[in-house]
Amino acid sequence: MYRSHTCGELRKTHIGTDVVLSGWVQKVRDKGFVVWVDLRDRYGITQLVFDEERTSAVLLTEARKLGREFVIQVHGSVIERASKNPQLPTGEIEILVTELKVLNSALLPPFTIEDETDGGADLRMKYRYLDIRRNPVKENLIFRSKVAMEVRNYLSAQGFIEVETPYLIKSTPEGARDFVVPSRMNPGQFYALPQSPQTFKQLLMVGGLDKYFQIVKCFRDEDLRADRQPEFTQIDCEMAFVEQEDVLNAFEGLTRHLLKAIRNVEVDKFPRMTYDEAVQTYGNDKPDIRFDMKFAELNKIAQHRNFQVFNSAELVVGIAVPGGAAFTRKEIDGIIDWLKRPQIGAKGMVYVRCLEDGSFKSSVDKFYEQEDLKNWAEATGAKPGDLVCVLSGETDVTRTQLSALRMEMAERLGLRNPEEFAPLWVVDFPLLEKDEETGDYHAMHHPFTSPKPGQLELLDTDPEAVRANAYDLVLNGNEIGGGSIRIHDKKVQGIMFRHLGFSEEEAKAQFGFLMDAFQYGAPPHGGIAFGLDRLVAILGGQETIRDFIAFPKNNSGRDVMIDAPAPIDKDQLEELNLRLRQD
Ligand code: ASP
Repeated sequence: MYRSHTCGELRKTHIGTDVVLSGWVQKVRDKGFVVWVDLRDRYGITQLVFDEERTSAVLLTEARKLGREFVIQVHGSVIERASKNPQLPTGEIEILVTELKVLNSALLPPFTIEDETDGGADLRMKYRYLDIRRNPVKENLIFRSKVAMEVRNYLSAQGFIEVETPYLIKSTPEGARDFVVPSRMNPGQFYALPQSPQTFKQLLMVGGLDKYFQIVKCFRDEDLRADRQPEFTQIDCEMAFVEQEDVLNAFEGLTRHLLKAIRNVEVDKFPRMTYDEAVQTYGNDKPDIRFDMKFAELNKIAQHRNFQVFNSAELVVGIAVPGGAAFTRKEIDGIIDWLKRPQIGAKGMVYVRCLEDGSFKSSVDKFYEQEDLKNWAEATGAKPGDLVCVLSGETDVTRTQLSALRMEMAERLGLRNPEEFAPLWVVDFPLLEKDEETGDYHAMHHPFTSPKPGQLELLDTDPEAVRANAYDLVLNGNEIGGGSIRIHDKKVQGIMFRHLGFSEEEAKAQFGFLMDAFQYGAPPHGGIAFGLDRLVAILGGQETIRDFIAFPKNNSGRDVMIDAPAPIDKDQLEELNLRLRQD
């Protein structure tokens, strides 16, 4: 028996008990006549004591030889501590050691295994197994497991069954590149790793399984923008005989359950907003509604003066920053510089201070009357003490810039409270989006999403106007889930492929299996997938998904611990019928 108790378990009530503990040496404190050792395991830290009076001299010498992160086992008895440590759950007791066994020695770790470590991110990733010994990382992994368990419990109780789908498949387009795997047995042929189990879950519906879910790895080869991972985990779900409303209700239920079970937060019915409204009011399709600062379009009331910048703009749009009138000139210049950085790319910003006496002081006083500025304040909902910030230019670009400013202001004003949870559904997404470079249309969600009833014909005349039965679940400014009601009719799916630029042959070659299946009695169906990594991070009140993944990859898609990806040897290439290009 390696241990009778864990290192987080023993209390005053255990005094007098003989125990066996195993764990890692966190710290050794040698006071000459007495040596203390902090012993750590997943559950906590327990103090061990070796002293000249009560333990043998041999044992004391042994204890002195222990180094950080040695793995040891001790026998001893629980005694009351002379100086108690109220910070530690086990702080009232210590173990008077009678037997010490070194189970394994350890090299000095490259960083301290403490909550606040001295190790930089790269070093910690290289030695991730040591990083996992640290409380913050360990706690995150335990937290993730708890969330996953709640998901499974809830969905199972609702009659969903978890089905595993294959990883070696054919491309399922979710808008990224595929990772491919060469097939040795089929020379010159490749599997694709799933960007999602989309087509399989639809086939499960054709198979009559009716309510499916899976906590599943998905793989997307895309340039890794901040905080994305090439492999990530989804809670993937599908239901048959459902309309959009049924899916929204089912997964609002799941989200509400998670918020309650994990954070003890109760949320009313989730608000819903159309895609168009979200873009118009918040400048993007995943608005953070924990705070206001809604967009007000000012074209009508700002374009009738001599201010050419506004007059020539497609959109003039503003927000009211609460309390912002108090920003100093220097602070406002700082904000403008921030907006002008290439990442945001604004040309400038017009601002109006709404003063406490009801008057206005703006950066465009030369062009506008007090009455004009008052109108802007009213339109944006600014109160005395607020700052109205106005951007102008091409519509989409300006919205994106103002949306960035809105988030930045919220950040600076401390309005992005991680303890607050504001979910909402964004619905009625466009079915297609245009690639401005090529002029081609892509599915905004994926090619299996159904257009709104009665809008199929619009595809020929005004494709961008077609709305889809597609929805996103947004939490605190993050898209945590997205899904759609699917096409379940072969003919409609064919039309869709055609509009996406697939020839009939291409569609058949790539998705013939799905079209075939639709001929054998496909029920109406729809579903959703949640990004588990992000959901866990948000529920944990944190921002970085990497912190909730046991073995994440870095921004270049590398696992620096195992050093992957890596070259493969010639024989393996040959076996796979592959040759590397020699440029
Ligand atoms: N397959 C979709 C995705 O990964 C989700 C869905 O439509 O259910 O985003």
